[in-house]
Amino acid sequence: MEHGYEEHMVRRRAELMDRMRAALVVSGRDIDSARLLAVSKTVGVDEVVAAMRAGYTLFGENRPQELARKLEALAARDDVSAGAYRFDMIGNLQTNKINMVLGRAALIHSVRSAKLARAVSDRVVRAAEAAGRPVVPQPVLFEVNVSGEESKSGFAPAELRESLEELAEMPGIAPQGLMTMAPRGDESVARRTFCGLRELRDTCAELCPELALPELSMGMSEDFEAALAEGSTIVRLGRVVFDPLFAL
Ligand SMILES: *Cc1c(COP(=O)(O)O)cnc(C)c1O
Repeated sequence: MEHGYEEHMVRRRAELMDRMRAALVVSGRDIDSARLLAVSKTVGVDEVVAAMRAGYTLFGENRPQELARKLEALAARDDVSAGAYRFDMIGNLQTNKINMVLGRAALIHSVRSAKLARAVSDRVVRAAEAAGRPVVPQPVLFEVNVSGEESKSGFAPAELRESLEELAEMPGIAPQGLMTMAPRGDESVARRTFCGLRELRDTCAELCPELALPELSMGMSEDFEAALAEGSTIVRLGRVVFDPLFAL
């Protein structure tokens, strides 16, 4: 790792926390109402450890194999304590990789369809039955394609509204909220997307009150302040955390 990386991480984290706090205060929100998830998908375990030393505790990976690899490498290190961090799964999840993620990801952000939700739920229930243990539901977020871009995955908003009752009844998942990705490059489009996710969540709460969806996972390196202004509770930051050349 390059000399000075740890100093950079400490400085950058302080700047990021300041920017997050300012964005929350301006929107009249509590300063502890949003968390920073550090997206470590492009870096190695040494960088993750440097991030932990700088104060990050919440990480995200987008590939199941890489999630498993990093957790294994971290568990083997004696300079990292086991309870000091948590990893979430934020990327595209295929049905045949669900078992690799269960027991590893604290929260799966990327449940993009009722079919995938069902598959996760079934596997959780089956694993509990096989082990003779009570079912502990897997915390999940439903990924929504708010902007309707072809290239993006996720529930269409109408599809999510129509699936709520079915999702609420799945015994192996514990829905916590919604996640989205905004189109790149245009701040006003990004903000509309985030606003759309919040409004969809509010509609869902009216349609299906037994399904509480407090978490809104939205905002990345280029648009996290707009996301915080629209109610984000988890910003997923990659480059701005780990890339010293990415200007804040
Ligand atoms: C890579 C990634 C991020 C982080 O993106 P940056 O622009 O580097 O902050 C956030 N969310 C998801 C789902 C990602 O794949």
